[in-house]
Amino acid sequence: MTPSLSYSKSSQIDELIESEREPHREPIARITGLMVQYYHVCERELWFMSKGIDIDRDTPNIQRGSHVDEKSYRDSRRSFSIDGRIALDILDDGDVMEVKVSSTLEKPPRMQLLYYLWYLDRIHNVEKTGVLAYPKERSRERVELTEEAAIDVEETLEGIIEIVNSERPPALEKKPYCDACLYQDICWL
Ligand code: SF4
Repeated sequence: MTPSLSYSKSSQIDELIESEREPHREPIARITGLMVQYYHVCERELWFMSKGIDIDRDTPNIQRGSHVDEKSYRDSRRSFSIDGRIALDILDDGDVMEVKVSSTLEKPPRMQLLYYLWYLDRIHNVEKTGVLAYPKERSRERVELTEEAAIDVEETLEGIIEIVNSERPPALEKKPYCDACLYQDICWL
């Protein structure tokens, strides 16, 4: 099938797409939506996660408002897991919805949602639009996979591949939200 948009500028991304389209092939990286979000929050956190250095994320200290409110829009959305890569909610009108508690960190959830749209388009030839929702703030925003946004996604994927294949974590750099990060003991003690 021919993808509805054609914008890959990288042979690495072309290879990723080809391998993801053929289930019997080993992908060059198994990139989930959460990894995309982490990349835009803290590359070091992404590296810890990719190496299996995980922390119990059910603790009350879950950080940065990234926890999805499971009750929001429960009646009008259905959840899907696709290829073990993306777990998304589809609204009754067909839009892909990403629900976040707070819009304080806007880029990470936006890129996560754009990755969902990119994955559906490039791997499964399904065009969708997205909705970024902040129920506590009573706000919603429409998100579309423009060509510019697709290039942002692909640059993100290249960055993720580089980090997860690195033997060392990215350099330590203080972030405004380090104090609320579950990896703070690893980074700063
Ligand atoms: S403590 Fe700070 S630098 Fe370390 S992983 Fe968390 S956000 Fe990143």
